[in-house]
Amino acid sequence: MAPQRLTIMSGSSSKRVLVLGGGVAGSTVADRLACAGVDVTLVENQPLIGGHAGAMGCKAAEVCLRCNVCVAVDIFKSVLQSSRVQVITRAHLAAFESRGLASPYRAVVTTKPGFIKMERCTGCGVCLKACPQGCLRVLLPAVYGGKPVMDADACLRSKGKSCALCAKACPVNAIDLDEKPHQHTLEADALVVAVGYQPFDPAIDASFGYGSVANVITGLEAERQLVQQRRITRPSDGAAPRRIAFIQCVGSRSEHAHRRPEDMDYCSAVCCAYALRMARRLLHESEDAAVTVFYMDLQNFGKDFNAFLNAVKPRLTLIRARPYEVTAGPQDTVSVRYEDQAQGAVTGAVFDLVVLAIGIRPAPDTLALAERLRIPVDEQGFLGVKGATGLAESQRPRVFLAGACEAPKDIASSISQAESVCAAVLGECGIFDDGQAARR
Ligand SMILES: Cc1cc2nc3c(=O)[nH]c(=O)nc-3n(C[C@H](O)[C@H](O)[C@H](O)COP(=O)(O)OP(=O)(O)OC[C@H]3O[C@@H](n4cnc5c(N)ncnc54)[C@H](O)[C@@H]3O)c2cc1C
Ligand code: SF4
Ligand code: SF4
Ligand code: SF4
Repeated sequence: MAPQRLTIMSGSSSKRVLVLGGGVAGSTVADRLACAGVDVTLVENQPLIGGHAGAMGCKAAEVCLRCNVCVAVDIFKSVLQSSRVQVITRAHLAAFESRGLASPYRAVVTTKPGFIKMERCTGCGVCLKACPQGCLRVLLPAVYGGKPVMDADACLRSKGKSCALCAKACPVNAIDLDEKPHQHTLEADALVVAVGYQPFDPAIDASFGYGSVANVITGLEAERQLVQQRRITRPSDGAAPRRIAFIQCVGSRSEHAHRRPEDMDYCSAVCCAYALRMARRLLHESEDAAVTVFYMDLQNFGKDFNAFLNAVKPRLTLIRARPYEVTAGPQDTVSVRYEDQAQGAVTGAVFDLVVLAIGIRPAPDTLALAERLRIPVDEQGFLGVKGATGLAESQRPRVFLAGACEAPKDIASSISQAESVCAAVLGECGIFDDGQAARR
């Protein structure tokens, strides 16, 4: 029998899908559904879409290291340009109720004012200079160009004073200081939940030295440096570090007797790859640099690992140890104590910069959201349970899960899983069929 071909019934459908979370997973769902002719409302609780990937930097050395950050950026740009995707930011899903099978869900979304009309703003930057309080900032320049967001809490108007300098300075009237909160009521044929993750906070464990030792930073801070200054430097003096250490599995794979609720017993799946890419980038930036990686196991790097290691030998040292103490050394150096398993002895080393490869935890309000949407959480606190197809399931009709909200994953896995979710959405909403409906 010839295989059945999946057919999109038309370039346009009357269906609307609600997507919660504008990170790379939610944006991929929105982008691909829009391409299939489905109208999408993308609800993001931050001022901008982009999530964690939108705030990450290119790690290319002499060659592209395939971190996929630029792939994610292209998806965010495509979403912002799509006429089929309605993006609602600073938004909260206040209600989500079933209305029966014909149009199953009714959603209420409330928004806080953002004061800047993004569709009108040209990113000229005039308002940034006009504001005496520094309330306007450019975030995610790769996605939004120079378009700013306003910190409404810092604005003089929030303190009862009168000011409209930014609005008067804007040459295209893109600032509406009288914007009010809104409430949107929508009908949705399906919901895709893609609320992502939160990074592990190393400040909860003094032994990592984070917050107390000047030149200890997290992987996320190293990412921000790559975005803002295109290189990784020491916070204490802005200098390029020569001796750099990465400490892997910070917060992940913690199975010791004194485990705290914040610790995670699972592998975060992304840290080895991002740390090794950053290491190679650092070695590329400076011929004097040497990198040491303290690791438990190196995970998820794929078939290029040996070629990768050969490219950075002998300036990359891999030490299989979990350091137990990170303290301040002389002249803003960082001292790392660890057990050298080969020699069976406790020893130490001194670095100019230590990067903590922090892992991935469920997003902060996952439990409350799960209760509100009546979705189960697994024993680690991520949304959903694995179904027969291998996809995480919400156990609610036409409610789907995508991205790191259901398990830690990198950008490539978030995109491919989001695409699988799109196929499931199209199937369950009757937009894809086996060709019969298209012939009717
Ligand atoms: C330090 C670090 C470095 C990394 N580097 C890389 C790398 O180089 N390459 C790579 O492939 N992966 C990397 N990753 C992994 C990458 O960040 C994830 O794969 C990716 O961000 C997952 O996307 P997501 O959309 O599932 O989640 P997120 O990026 O977390 O996006 C979720 C979105 O949902 C929004 N949201 C949350 N709750 C709500 C709500 N209730 N209502 C509405 N919106 C909500 C959030 O504001 C956010 O915009 C790194 C991770 C870390 C921790
Ligand atoms: S290193 Fe990453 S962001 Fe840079 S070009 Fe390659 S995939 Fe894109
Ligand atoms: S109203 Fe005044 S204080 Fe507020 S953002 Fe504009 S310029 Fe800044
Ligand atoms: S002055 Fe107006 S157009 Fe220019 S960046 Fe500010 S809001 Fe946008």
